[in-house]
Amino acid sequence: DVGASDHPTGVATHCAYCGLQCAMTLTGANAAELTVTPRRFPTNRGGLCQKGWTSAELLRTPHRLTRPLVRRDGELVPTSWEDALDRVADGIVRTRAAYGDDAVAVFGGGGLTNEKAYQLGRFARVALRTSQIDYNGRWCMSSAAAAGIRCFGIDRGLPFPVTDIGSAHAVLLLGANPAETMPPFLSHLVPAADHAGLMVADPRLTPTAAKALDGGGLHLQLRPGTDAALALGLIHVAVTEGYADRAYIAGRTTGFEDIWAIAAQWLPERVERVTGVATATLRETVRTLARARDTERGAYLLSARGTEQHATGTDTVTAFIALALVLGLPGNPGTGFGTLTGQGNGQGGREHGQKADQLPGYRRIDDPAARAHVAAVWGIDPEDLPGPGRSAFELLDALGTDGGPRALLVHGSNPVVSAPEAGRVTERLRALDLLVVSDFVLSETAAIADVVLPVLQWAEEEGTLTNLEGRVLRRRRAVSPPPGCRSELEIWAELASRIGCSTAFSTDPREVFDELRRATAGGPADYSAITWERLDAGESLHWPCSAERPSGTPRLFLDGFATPDGRARFVPVEHAGPAEVDDPDYPLVGTTGRVLQHYQSGAQTRLVDELASAAGEMFVQVHPETAARAGVGDSEIAAVVSRRGRTLATVRLDEAMRPDVVFLPFHWAGDGRANSLTHAALDPTSRMPEFKACAVRLEAAR
Ligand code: SF4
Repeated sequence: DVGASDHPTGVATHCAYCGLQCAMTLTGANAAELTVTPRRFPTNRGGLCQKGWTSAELLRTPHRLTRPLVRRDGELVPTSWEDALDRVADGIVRTRAAYGDDAVAVFGGGGLTNEKAYQLGRFARVALRTSQIDYNGRWCMSSAAAAGIRCFGIDRGLPFPVTDIGSAHAVLLLGANPAETMPPFLSHLVPAADHAGLMVADPRLTPTAAKALDGGGLHLQLRPGTDAALALGLIHVAVTEGYADRAYIAGRTTGFEDIWAIAAQWLPERVERVTGVATATLRETVRTLARARDTERGAYLLSARGTEQHATGTDTVTAFIALALVLGLPGNPGTGFGTLTGQGNGQGGREHGQKADQLPGYRRIDDPAARAHVAAVWGIDPEDLPGPGRSAFELLDALGTDGGPRALLVHGSNPVVSAPEAGRVTERLRALDLLVVSDFVLSETAAIADVVLPVLQWAEEEGTLTNLEGRVLRRRRAVSPPPGCRSELEIWAELASRIGCSTAFSTDPREVFDELRRATAGGPADYSAITWERLDAGESLHWPCSAERPSGTPRLFLDGFATPDGRARFVPVEHAGPAEVDDPDYPLVGTTGRVLQHYQSGAQTRLVDELASAAGEMFVQVHPETAARAGVGDSEIAAVVSRRGRTLATVRLDEAMRPDVVFLPFHWAGDGRANSLTHAALDPTSRMPEFKACAVRLEAAR
């Protein structure tokens, strides 16, 4: 990285959006004049995608909220900060008095800075005294995180620098489409693509899968929800065809026989029947990975949401980690298993305590030693620290019910669009006595709130984020915020004071980061030796970074895994398939994902004209035969119907689609909301909903 001082005419910072956190320089005296220039950095190598190039538009959007809003006579009307904060504080006090502390809940976001993620967890547990806090990252990487902890003893999306992938000749992407989600990342896949070693497991021929085929690589076009069967079949091939690394398995792992007892049943022919992936493709996939490993050309498995967002996501990722372990990849230089984070602070957002079951430093909230450490930093008795709360969907689904929360504070999230079974979740949000949303635009969730608090956005404030490789980055202020907007740190300090909390909450992000360092000291994600001074001096610091490891840890596991015996664990998992199976009424599998121009629920990117016009309108991607059977034609508006809802979308015919699958992007709201259809069957470990497979039918819109 380069520090701010290397750019005397601009401010060195990182993108407003995704987990690649591309480096950029912002130049200009104010938001109206601000220009974006890409900056050389290991992860983006001087590249930006269209979202990054247009990110300054967010700072000058005419849709910006600059005054608090309160609902009067059914309408949201402007008011003063005093009035808005008084209403929120009064609502919290009354709700707690009537229903108890857990009747007030908090919902956070994976885009919040490290300081905000940390302070939100502290505010919830110390000021609100509630256990009811979770965040939208539960719907992002939680399955991969749970599988990483299960098998490696720790979760860091990439346990190696992104640049390590950049010399690999074999990369197997599992439900990842970086050509659309993080295009600059593709530069790291060039050697693999050039050597016919880029392989993509995805139900769709995405631009990433097409790139693999262009280079002579492979597209494993599996049926949605059959990822675990694919992994077990690949393990079968690796073992039976002599590609397993027996010395690695014996020396660095435990439990191989348990997974083999299951994988032995997954003969390639059976895998082909279940997944649709040809036996020759299975064999070529394993052969390509093993060849790159044996010639020391680099071999990686990288998972993302396509393989993780299932009710069996944890087991599925566990099965792919087992494949990587059979091949002897994790914890060796030049090979490995990793996960591509989605949200801007997807990694940091899940380390600092806004998750229902976690405390700062990636500590478990049910661990007495962790509770004692964090309570001491927070100046409270460990007995006063609430225990684990409900996971994201369970929390939202309990709103307004007997025993459920009656008031909710939402920060950095738009669940009306992004939640599974979004229609049901919206009804629950409407059932609240008090819904407070902090955002910088009127998102669909803010639009149904009782109080809306206008907050600062990315280039208007200082902070840190942690990118997909566990590297801590400085996000810097480049322009002054509009008058009338406030940081969430100020909001929480004000609210804590107004509800009578005697603990002070700093409004200075640097002070909050210093407290975060103390709170994380000794935990798995240890930030204790990371300072803003070191980051501003351009040091590259990956956690854990402590007195014992002052230079940080770019590569984990080289000396052993983070398990008690230092060995990675094979965990026996079965293929279960999607929770909802198709039937004559709902004969297709609906799956969801992203498009190049939009980010998350689209609440931000839909406001950027260049992105909105390039992306067009909500669509459903469908095979021509499937469309013909449903009686709909190209460019017509069709209805996609599941047991939970109905979504209208423009038909895009695509001969490369599987005839049994339709694809819907999840960036649009209203009639075009993809999550009206999705299914909230939850993973038993991670509590990840089944976003990627639900039974649907396609029909003409009437
Ligand atoms: Fe921003 Fe992600 Fe695009 Fe990079 S890839 S410019 S971080 S949205």
